[in-house]
Amino acid sequence: MSQLPTPNPPVTADSLPFWEGATDDRLVLPRCNGCAEVIWYPRHFCPRCGSADVSWFEASGQGSIYSFTVVERGQGRWAEHSPYVLAYVELAEGPRVLTNIIDTDPDSLSIGDVVHASFDHSEDGRGVLRFTVR
Ligand SMILES: [Zn+2]
Repeated sequence: MSQLPTPNPPVTADSLPFWEGATDDRLVLPRCNGCAEVIWYPRHFCPRCGSADVSWFEASGQGSIYSFTVVERGQGRWAEHSPYVLAYVELAEGPRVLTNIIDTDPDSLSIGDVVHASFDHSEDGRGVLRFTVR
């Protein structure tokens, strides 16, 4: 668990399976039953083919850093946590997720580094998806 701010996420009926999984430290994602696209952000709708026929599955939690930046001067609640890492992680299942890389020296990171899902928990107990290098 990182020390980064972890606000309560905006849980909706459409994304509930994702948040229920994240609360148990599991990465649960929707996959389209029409075209097999793994869908990000989580919802009951495929942005690729328009189908509303999706199934939820537990993803590997593995990915790699597609791009990242080190935020040296965060704003508001984030200021005291600088520097921190804002990154796009490409999941093994395909989608690219905007996230934080935690528990890692920012100066040690490189594009392509293998990362693993790690969940911080908000005040309401929901898991917030972040990644760590192991
Ligand atoms: Zn589809």
